[in-house]
Amino acid sequence: MDFKLTQEEQEFARGVREFLDQEARHPEAHDFMDPDRDAHSQLANSKERRDFCKRMGAKGYLGMSWPKDFGGQEIPGIFEYLLNEELALRGAPLIGKGVGCIGKTIIRHGSEEMKARFLPLILDAEVEFALGYSEPGSGSDLASLKLKAEADGEGWVLNGQKVWTTSAHFAEWYWVAARTDPDAPKHKGISVFLIPMDHPGLTIRPIETMGHHRTNEVFFDNVRVGPEALVGELNKGWTYVCEALDFERFTFYTVNPLLSKFERALEALRGRQRNGAPLSEDAGVRRAVGRLGAEVETAKMLQRRVVDAASKGGVPAIEAAMYKVFSTRLAQEITNFVLDHLGPEGLLRSGADGAVDNGVWEHFYQTTPLDTIGGGTSEVQKNIIARRGLGLPLR
Ligand SMILES: Cc1cc2nc3c(=O)[nH]c(=O)nc-3n(C[C@H](O)[C@H](O)[C@H](O)COP(=O)(O)OP(=O)(O)OC[C@H]3O[C@@H](n4cnc5c(N)ncnc54)[C@H](O)[C@@H]3O)c2cc1C
Repeated sequence: MDFKLTQEEQEFARGVREFLDQEARHPEAHDFMDPDRDAHSQLANSKERRDFCKRMGAKGYLGMSWPKDFGGQEIPGIFEYLLNEELALRGAPLIGKGVGCIGKTIIRHGSEEMKARFLPLILDAEVEFALGYSEPGSGSDLASLKLKAEADGEGWVLNGQKVWTTSAHFAEWYWVAARTDPDAPKHKGISVFLIPMDHPGLTIRPIETMGHHRTNEVFFDNVRVGPEALVGELNKGWTYVCEALDFERFTFYTVNPLLSKFERALEALRGRQRNGAPLSEDAGVRRAVGRLGAEVETAKMLQRRVVDAASKGGVPAIEAAMYKVFSTRLAQEITNFVLDHLGPEGLLRSGADGAVDNGVWEHFYQTTPLDTIGGGTSEVQKNIIARRGLGLPLR
């Protein structure tokens, strides 16, 4: 495996760093760049965050890998990965679902009208989307989803419920998977729709979760949409959902936040004492730091295998599953290790008197579990490795 960046790639990453240095001088920079906050808690609807995304668009950072015919630059996906690594390190919004799964699916399968309407808005960061996949009872087994879309003359009527929809409370459009053929095998009766988030019949209810992450339930009560809301072909939705995940292999899996967590952990513990002796002289602490350090290097290698395979045009499903399950567990472990050794003040929240590192470890304690669930739980990743990687039988 060769993972040396070419000169062009290194120059690109340097350019992004310069752009972000400049952005960091913005008086409201804390609203869109905060390395003390995990990605989930950055999902707020601030004007500054949107303006920052627009400046990324103006800089040409959105849609870089799209075809030129649709406003892209047709440059390899590795540049989007490099961009996201730099953004993740600064705690800035990553290029996400609009440019990635939604934009790329519209380019491949959307009608001409849909392309003309949405692609320019995505490139200019003028639109936010929410993804409506999960339902009560259909998360890991997504293909069992039940939201009903029934043909009604030329259009559709949708009834049912979604859950865990991030961004529903500020997005303009809802990318929704619904069941259009209840009699077909479960993977074959699903279609995708694009619906305005403020459409009559949609009700959004907040769910506050740990780590100040707001997510939502969305209820569909006779939501009537025209034929133009259907994305691509009828009953091909499962293919689009899976394909969209494949598009994201480059950009989902940044490693910089994990590396920086480990560096910060060492910094937080350096100079601390227990029972009058420096922690650094405690054999148990030294052993744990050595092991965590080695595992961080392992995570880096696993991530590079994802990027290497993807840059050769493959779909690194197994590599990505390995990296996700390993790195999300490690992020939790580093956080727990630091909290175990900081003592009670480690649990003080940001803003509290005496909070260590402005309460960042308490925050990470609440947010690191989220990554072990979102985008496919650790158990689901292990199933992928077992079945597709090791060829073990389905049980
Ligand atoms: C931060 C965050 C953001 C999210 N954003 C969105 C969003 O925007 N849109 C959206 O649609 N969804 C979103 N989700 C939902 C997410 O996709 C689901 O939570 C996830 O797929 C798991 O589904 P579930 O919650 O229904 O759990 P379940 O699938 O019910 O799983 C419950 C438990 O059973 C285990 N399990 C399930 N099946 C198996 C199996 N076959 N083998 C072994 N163990 C199994 C799971 O690992 C888990 O521990 C988000 C989740 C998080 C945490």
